[in-house]
Amino acid sequence: MSEQHYDVVVIGAGPAGYVAAIRAAQLGLKTACVDAFIGKDGKPALGGTCLNVGCIPSKALLDSSKQFHNLTHNFAVHGIAAANPSIDVGTMVGRKDKIVKQFTGGITSLFKANKVTPIAGFATLKPGRVVSIKGHDGSVSEISGTNVIIGVGSVPIELPFAKFDNKLIVDNAGALDFDATPARLGVIGAGVIGLELGSVWKRLGSEVTVLEALPDFLAAADADIAKAAAREFKKQGLDIRLGAKLSKAQINGNEVHLTYSDAKSEQNLVVDRLLVAVGRRAATNGLLAEGTGVQLDERGRVVVDDHCHTGVDGVWAVGDCVRGPMLAHKGSEEGIAVAELIAGRAGHVNLDTVPWVIYTEPEIAWVGKTEEQLKAEGVPYRTGSFPFAAIGRAVAMNETAGMVKVIAHADTDRLLGVHMVGACVSEMIHEAVVAMEFKGSAEDLARICHAHPTLSEAVHEAALAVDKRAIHKAN
Ligand code: NAD
Repeated sequence: MSEQHYDVVVIGAGPAGYVAAIRAAQLGLKTACVDAFIGKDGKPALGGTCLNVGCIPSKALLDSSKQFHNLTHNFAVHGIAAANPSIDVGTMVGRKDKIVKQFTGGITSLFKANKVTPIAGFATLKPGRVVSIKGHDGSVSEISGTNVIIGVGSVPIELPFAKFDNKLIVDNAGALDFDATPARLGVIGAGVIGLELGSVWKRLGSEVTVLEALPDFLAAADADIAKAAAREFKKQGLDIRLGAKLSKAQINGNEVHLTYSDAKSEQNLVVDRLLVAVGRRAATNGLLAEGTGVQLDERGRVVVDDHCHTGVDGVWAVGDCVRGPMLAHKGSEEGIAVAELIAGRAGHVNLDTVPWVIYTEPEIAWVGKTEEQLKAEGVPYRTGSFPFAAIGRAVAMNETAGMVKVIAHADTDRLLGVHMVGACVSEMIHEAVVAMEFKGSAEDLARICHAHPTLSEAVHEAALAVDKRAIHKAN
């Protein structure tokens, strides 16, 4: 064979692909990882969407904007005053870019340390596990693998009547790089990206209007949690319009003119910037040459079995480009599992205990089933909830919004779902993930000693409330 041969060729260096590559190399497999991403500085950058234009940069901006919001809204109650607070958006975005660079550079160092060969360019899988790579200089080369792991991720869905121009009408990447706070920001889609990035710019002073096509707010979350979150977002001044279907977005000078319909009639809205965040699709365009045998489903995702195997000998796929939630941590776990399976070890991902987190203020987090799902499935259950307003630590922190809700099987008491909205719940959810992964019950959580005073006491009390014996509220 003339081309360079590896034990494992990974296509894509996002959190699914780069983690798969590192684990494969740790297990002694000769590994290459091909990635096409070009960073903001025009150079190849590892880390995929998550590190470059997703999880990490958005959290950097969420943190900056939270500091500013606290300064302008929440410090007075502590007796802290600041004269004429202002935010320099350029500095804020520069800080975000530095963090991105630190982490994408970190993957380069990890690849070096683990002897993973990075290859910059766009990969196409050919029959026989040959991978053709089109370099950024136009050159074409080929490598092959005893195994190929596809981890090509996802790209934003573009609406035909609101095409991205990357200046006025933007996707998630564009909304991380505004050069100034838009006076009026329109957001299409009240999903994870719309709420997170809408929150960033709202806190910095934008008038934010979110148009959501569905009649229910955050339909994927437990309804009690979604209701509590909606109440808080409304208080913050986020204008979320449900059942609002966009039909046209027209650029007019420096404005975007929107036409949408709601239950009543056709409506118009003028904004300065428009973020379209209506979901993502698998980035499988151009991935497969003729005759590989790898199948795509009707949504363009690579078809895989429970072990992320495509059914074609030695070809696997992980992360956003396969079934299951589009979450970085789910992709990473699949990447590790596949590397372990290739090395002849046990590898498995339990999709039932993948945690969800939305990094708004308050944060939203959950694991397992919602009450609505259990109702639809006819599963008997009991619930217990506890508000942060009755938690000493939350009151001391001035973070009283939200609650914890525990759902357990009515007969066996096994935990079926744990749902949270409140400060720091992105960290607290893992207690519930561990408990559910170990097949724990509400009684298990109720009998575990929780430190006082902590926010986690809300989990303890909610578990006690399942059996109507919470201490610090009337049951
Ligand atoms: P999403 O699926 O979370 O939300 C998209 C929303 O847009 C939905 O509520 C949908 O009903 C609405 N919508 C669709 N078409 C519409 C239309 N024409 N007009 C108005 N509303 C419309 O998608 P997203 O927010 O774009 O995020 C994409 C993916 O990235 C998600 O799968 C998400 O899990 C992932 N992500 C996760 C995180 C996190 O874990 N914190 C953060 C960012 C992104």
